[in-house]
Amino acid sequence: MSIWLSVLVQTPAHAALGPLLTYRSATQLAVGTLVRVPLGKRETLGVVWGDDEQQGTGEMDSDKVRDIADVFDTVAPLGPAWQQLVRFAAQYYQRSLGEVALAALPPQLRDLTPQQMQGKARRSKRALTEAAPAATATADKGVAADTAHFYPPALTAEQSTVVEHIATAQGPFLLFGATGSGKTEVYLHCVQSLLERDPSAQALVMVPEINLTPQLEARFRARFAPLLGAQAVVSLHSGMTNPQRLAAWLAAHEGRARIVLGTRMAVFASMPHLKFIVVDEEHDPSYKSSEGARYSARDLAVYRGKLQGAKVLLGSATPSLESWHHSRPAAEGGRYLRLHMPARVGAEVVALPLVRRVDMNHQPRNAVFSLPLLQAIRDRVARGEQSMVFLNRRGYAPVLHCTDCGWKSECAHCSAFRVFHKVDRTLRCHHCGFTERVPRACPSCGNIDITPMGRGTEQIEEQLEALLADIRRPNSISDAFPEGEPVRVARIDADTTRLKGSLQAQLAAVHAGDVDVLVGTQMIAKGHDFRRITLVAAVNPDGALFSSDFRAPERLFSLLLQAAGRAGRDAALGERSEVWIQTFQPAHPLYAALKQYDYPAFASSQLQERAQAGMPPFSFQALVRAEARSQEAAQAFLNAASANARSDMASWDGWHEVLAQVTLYSAVPMAIARVANVERAQMLVESPSRAALQEFLSGWHGVLHATRAQPECKGLIRWAIDVDPLAI
Ligand code: ADP
Ligand code: ZN
Ligand code: ZN
Repeated sequence: MSIWLSVLVQTPAHAALGPLLTYRSATQLAVGTLVRVPLGKRETLGVVWGDDEQQGTGEMDSDKVRDIADVFDTVAPLGPAWQQLVRFAAQYYQRSLGEVALAALPPQLRDLTPQQMQGKARRSKRALTEAAPAATATADKGVAADTAHFYPPALTAEQSTVVEHIATAQGPFLLFGATGSGKTEVYLHCVQSLLERDPSAQALVMVPEINLTPQLEARFRARFAPLLGAQAVVSLHSGMTNPQRLAAWLAAHEGRARIVLGTRMAVFASMPHLKFIVVDEEHDPSYKSSEGARYSARDLAVYRGKLQGAKVLLGSATPSLESWHHSRPAAEGGRYLRLHMPARVGAEVVALPLVRRVDMNHQPRNAVFSLPLLQAIRDRVARGEQSMVFLNRRGYAPVLHCTDCGWKSECAHCSAFRVFHKVDRTLRCHHCGFTERVPRACPSCGNIDITPMGRGTEQIEEQLEALLADIRRPNSISDAFPEGEPVRVARIDADTTRLKGSLQAQLAAVHAGDVDVLVGTQMIAKGHDFRRITLVAAVNPDGALFSSDFRAPERLFSLLLQAAGRAGRDAALGERSEVWIQTFQPAHPLYAALKQYDYPAFASSQLQERAQAGMPPFSFQALVRAEARSQEAAQAFLNAASANARSDMASWDGWHEVLAQVTLYSAVPMAIARVANVERAQMLVESPSRAALQEFLSGWHGVLHATRAQPECKGLIRWAIDVDPLAI
């Protein structure tokens, strides 16, 4: 007697058939059991999803049903909560269940047989303990001096109030706390009291970026390893090796790991005893996946919390406008509980740095650094303090151009300019990677006078070095520099941190005081705890004020406020810490709110605008993106799918009302229409009702598939739906 089972396997994103395939097993297997099954000529990982209802109906030829090849019988089946999480994610983000479920498992599982796996499991405990000290060692530099991490400090009054609320209410909570207000300490405290109360409970703590995990890991490990053992804290992020990831995943799945720290992918970790979820810097766009199923780990965390009865704590100094809106008073319909921690923690209260706006209209034309900013940096150097200058553009100059004929350094494969990198004298496309050496003369007219336009971080670094060349660092007379050492300018951006470990090394140099002025992209504005920086400058932040993306101001405000949080963390230096904004719009309300550190004022004015314009969070959106050989084909596909929605779906029973609540806009080219010779277009779908949008998308999915076959869509390469898109 054999049993037919439905098994979930990895299938292409839009496979019209369900991803469930039928296999035969000699014994009954529980739902959630991991198996290996034959698929075509190969064998693949699968998850048992239930009994197959076709058994005995004669609908399927029993000769065609193949046997399950192998069962992972040492791994406990994935539980119902995990199953429901992936089911929901697949449905909500319009992807196949097989794709979402299998992508949520550690990659190495796909390559192992159950026998190999058993060996791994035995070794994994060792791997975990080996991985632990290494991770701590690299991270320590920045926080080692901070003994507060090793001995829990007494909570401040603000922190106690917040902790009390979290203990007594159900949440979800939005912890709105200034940078340095002690949010992480609140996370540590809540996790600790949970784990002490409940000896099997697990906690999930997410951060937006891999770069931020070592700091956090060091802090959690220092606090919890002595209490729970080194294996109780594991990380999950894409910077780990596959064996490390598998070991950490198993530890979480088996409940050995009590605390999982990770990036967005960790939201899918199997944690049967999950009781608490933290989403730190919840506003960060990195929580939204930009490939495959475009899920928001923050939103899934809230769903998962409800599903598993775990409390969810979102934290930020600049919450997303969505979360801010959700945490309005309950009487006005708010669903989250907003908790506020306005003060920075410190021996005496550390003041937030003074924000100064420099009106660039009154500065010499084309000046990169205004005179007062330059003077402020020089003063810092003279006092032995550090400055941080950021600009969101890497390379030397965004364009190279010919003053004679107007040639510009366009990319041959994209509708974008190639960026001039002076360090290795290349022109590089930041979209497709196409790189060439800088031509000696204009490729179009032969003029040798080709010049950079605009500026990037390399140029800022070069200019600062020149502008500070005449001064010497205090107390730095050495044999090599009898006059005193020159000022040390360093740069951190995607170009200087390509090699594994290089970012950590460069950050360590800043912490150690080996850098006087740090130049970088937004990479340096986030999260890193620099104690000796007393000046943060945004050289040219105005672009976002006039962007066509309605979220650009929100992102700018949050970036500037995060950056401000880097300055003056040290009580002794906090007094004279400053944030400088060079702008042509000094009176802009965004900068006015920033000067007052008034996020609520900024948020309420933004929300008012959004409400008037009917934009999220007052409406719900999805984007369909199409890629094709020609822009016409990409747009034709989208417009045809839109027309088909109107013509076909309107006749479906009961769909009239759904359609009435959904607006489909015309297809338009994407902001960068061509990348690597592929043309890209998008179409916005909008509804005042999330439920209506969801229902529409579920019905439209099949229509999109069918549309593909229409003759005018020849040349279409692929399409994908992005629900709740962050960039429009
Ligand atoms: P945030 O996560 O909000 O930026 P942190 O939790 O990192 O803030 O706290 C900022 C600094 O204040 C850290 O160095 C931390 O060790 C310290 N700190 C936090 N809470 C306390 C407290 N209750 N007593 C003393 N120091 C604290
Ligand atoms: Zn020319
Ligand atoms: Zn390109």
